[in-house]
Amino acid sequence: MNRGCGRKVSSVCIVLLCTGACTTSPDLSEIESHRRAIDVLDAGIDALGGLEAIRSLDSLTVAFRTRVLHVDQGPRPDVPVVVQQLHYRMTVDIPGRRILIGAFASDTSPQPVFTTEVSEERVFHRLAGTGSGQTLHRSAAAPFLHSFPMALTYTLQAWDAWASLYWLGQRHEDGKSYDVIVFADKFGTQRTLYFDTETARLERSALVTTQEPFGDVVSEAIYGDFRPLNGVLIPWQTSEKVRGILASEFEALTVSVGRSVLDSTSSASRVPRDDPGPARASRTARSLVAEPLGDGVFRIPDVLPGYHVMFVEQDDRIILIEAVGGLDLSPSVLETIASIVPGKPVTHVVLTHHHDDHSNGLWSYLQAGMAVLTTPGLVAFVRDVASTPRRTERGLVSQGLPTIETVQEKRVFGRGRNRIELYDVGPNPHAEEILMAYLPEHRLLFLSDVYGHRDGVDMPPVLLSLAAVLERLALDVSTVVTAHTEPGTIAELESAIATARARAAQRRR
Ligand SMILES: [Zn+2]
Repeated sequence: MNRGCGRKVSSVCIVLLCTGACTTSPDLSEIESHRRAIDVLDAGIDALGGLEAIRSLDSLTVAFRTRVLHVDQGPRPDVPVVVQQLHYRMTVDIPGRRILIGAFASDTSPQPVFTTEVSEERVFHRLAGTGSGQTLHRSAAAPFLHSFPMALTYTLQAWDAWASLYWLGQRHEDGKSYDVIVFADKFGTQRTLYFDTETARLERSALVTTQEPFGDVVSEAIYGDFRPLNGVLIPWQTSEKVRGILASEFEALTVSVGRSVLDSTSSASRVPRDDPGPARASRTARSLVAEPLGDGVFRIPDVLPGYHVMFVEQDDRIILIEAVGGLDLSPSVLETIASIVPGKPVTHVVLTHHHDDHSNGLWSYLQAGMAVLTTPGLVAFVRDVASTPRRTERGLVSQGLPTIETVQEKRVFGRGRNRIELYDVGPNPHAEEILMAYLPEHRLLFLSDVYGHRDGVDMPPVLLSLAAVLERLALDVSTVVTAHTEPGTIAELESAIATARARAAQRRR
C-alpha cells in the first residue's frame, strides 16, 4: 500500500497502553512494533474491502435504534437507567471523519428533535427549533463516538496517523484472539484497536477517558454483524462498555450509500461561527463568585454551568452542600470559600446523591481531607471513588478509607443559628436515596434534582414524591435554593407541586 512520501512523523508522546492483560508481550523494538502494527492495520483495511472501496463510499446513511443505559444516573449506583428510546438517522461523512446524528420522535418524522454533530474537533448539540446549540463535553456524546460506523472511521484515522502506530501484542478475550494496536489521533487521544486474528477485522476499540467521579475509565466498543455494502463490510451492531459495564447498544435498521435527510437540515446543524468551542466547554478551573443567602450562608452559582452549590459557616467549620467539582474545579470552590470565610476549615461535603454530575468533585474533596455526609446506601460508592487512583503532581494517588458520616432519615448537623438538618427524601424516582438540607433558622431549603431541574420541567412523579415528604415534615420554609435554578420561594415550589398534581391527574384520566 502506498502511503505517500514526506509525511511528518507525529510528535505526540506515545505511552503504550493496554486495557487488559496482554497475553503476548510485544518483545519487539519500537521499529519492529511499528511495522507490525502497520501490517495488522493494512490487513484490517483489506478485510473490510480495501482503502479505495471504503473511500468510494464517501457517505453513508444509517437508520438505527439504540438503547442507552446511563450507568451513573440510575436510582442506585449499581442500577443503570435506560434513556428514552428515539429513532435515529445518521449521516457518516467518511472523508470528513464526521457524523451527523438526528433523533426523531418517530421513524416517519420529517424534523429531528435534536441533532448532534460529532467530528474529531468537537461534539455540537442543537435542539430543533432553537437558534442556538452548544459544544458538549465529549463524555456526553461518548455513545455516538463508539457507534458502529466508527469501525470505518477509526480504521481511517489510524491510517492517517500511521506514524503513531504500535503493536501492543495479542490478547485473548471471549474465546477470540486479537492483535492489539494503538494509535494517536491528531489531538493526541490514543485508541487501542483490536483486530480479530482470524478475520483480520477491527472488532473492538477502546480508549481511556476521564469521567469523574471515577477518573480515568476505559470505554470500549465491540463491533459485530458485519454485512457487505458496495464491497465494504460494515458492522451493523455495536455494544459500548464503560468501566466494563454495558452502557449502550446500537443496532442498524438500514444502511445505504449517500447522504440522508439530515443534510437538508445540516446548515442548521453546522457549528456557528460564534460557538465558544470545546476549550470553554471543558471542566477547567474558572473564577467563581459566592453570593450571600443569609448570615454565614452562601451559594456559589455555576461551579459547572448550571450547577450551583451552597456552603454554611458553623462555629468552627464550614459545610459544603453538593459534591460538584472536579480535579481542577474543587480547589477553586475551596479557594472561593476561603476568600469569603478565611481561616475556617471546610470539614464536610454533603453528597446529596450519587449521580456522576453531582459527585464529580467527590474525589478531590476527599483528597482535601474532607469527610462526606451521605446516606447509608452510598457508603460503598464513596469508598469506591476514594480508592480509585488519580494522576496528580505526585504521581498516581489513591486514597484510603474515607471518613463517612451517614444520614438515616434525619440528622441534625451542628448547633445554633446555622445548624443544618439533613433529610433523606428518598426513595424518589430520581434516586433511591437523596438528601435535602434544611436550615431552620434561615427557613431555607436546599434541593438537588427533586425540584428545579435544569430543563425547567419537573417530572410529576419526582416532585410529587418530594411533596409527600414535605407534607409529612411540615417544615417552616421561606427560601428554596436548588442545584440547578435560581433561588426561589416556597410559594413557587407549592405552585409547581400543584401543577404536577394537575398533570398527574390529567394523565390518570
Ligand atoms: Zn441526579
